Amino acid sequence: MLPLIKTYIPPREDLMPKIEEVLYSGYIAQGEVVENFERKFEEFIGSGYTLSLNSGTAALHIALILAGVKEGDEVISTAMTAEPTNVVIKMVGAKVRWADVDYETGNISAKAIESAINEKTKAIIVVDYAGTPVDVNSIQQVSLKYNIPVIEDAAHALGTTYNGKKTGNHFPFTVFSFQAIKHLTTIDGGALQIQDKELYEKGKLIRWFGLDKKLSRLDNDIQIQGFKYHMNNVNATIGLVQLETIEDLLQQYRTIGKYLDVKLKGLSGLETVVHYPDSESSYWLYTLKVDRRDDFIKMMADNGFMASEIHKRNDLHTYLNDYPAEMPNLDKFYSRLVHIPCGWWVTLEDCDNMIDVIKKGW
Ligand SMILES: *Cc1c(COP(=O)(O)O)cnc(C)c1O
Repeated sequence: MLPLIKTYIPPREDLMPKIEEVLYSGYIAQGEVVENFERKFEEFIGSGYTLSLNSGTAALHIALILAGVKEGDEVISTAMTAEPTNVVIKMVGAKVRWADVDYETGNISAKAIESAINEKTKAIIVVDYAGTPVDVNSIQQVSLKYNIPVIEDAAHALGTTYNGKKTGNHFPFTVFSFQAIKHLTTIDGGALQIQDKELYEKGKLIRWFGLDKKLSRLDNDIQIQGFKYHMNNVNATIGLVQLETIEDLLQQYRTIGKYLDVKLKGLSGLETVVHYPDSESSYWLYTLKVDRRDDFIKMMADNGFMASEIHKRNDLHTYLNDYPAEMPNLDKFYSRLVHIPCGWWVTLEDCDNMIDVIKKGW
């Protein structure tokens, strides 16, 4: 069965000598290699400071702390995402306030964000679902109007662009995940891209028990709550090797995604995602909205293609559903949502075969 997700690991001859070197170097903790990875990642993004971490979840957690979210506050978020996006809101003791999505993309709607804002709102989390960039301009306007910071969860959206700029340049905080199934994996890992230098310095303290690594232990005086969220030299080694070929890898996702966009558009019984103007998806997952989803999934499986909705809308989790909300667009999107294979392991021939069976109907 052609899978929906496949981890890319660089060729043995490129990766293994470097892993061996770092493992036996006598220093596998957070050190120079991590530093190199961060500076290379900053180059890849184009602006801001990279705080490397041991997960995307840690990046979300630190972003909420740096945004000043505390117990009793509210964070506006989307239910159309993976669970970490919303579990972290509870980690800082805040409550989740849902905003509906735009039906075309499945991404949080700027209008719905604006209607959900109240005096307790301290941050807005937006997610580039499946790699489709969010409506950056409209969300920036709402953020500016009410002076509420935006955290972009770009775990699906490495290399995604909006107005010609990569994701990571648009909001004060952008979260990336290098977990096992993401575009760029370090096995597990993540990064928080921070635009403000002072917040970045504070982020470094929070990453490491509240301790300042530049000072000796005796000269340190912990003043804030920190965690153990750092990346180590081994994961960073894998990250550095991955970064060498990441643009090619991302291009492969886009090539397949755009091919499917063109060939599937207008077919009966389905809709493709309509992207916001001047934006380009990373196609981490290829999203379709189909009639009779269960029949579609079965038909695809019978023909050797995995298809699935993959995510469960997060308001269906009791613990996360602090304020149950009517979300008609999400109802419609979620009932028709399905993902089909797209990525470096999918060939144009695979695409043609998928298109053929889809054209036959289900
Ligand atoms: C993977 C993912 C995360 C969390 O990343 P980890 O590195 O697994 O902690 C956060 N948000 C979304 C939308 C994700 O898909």
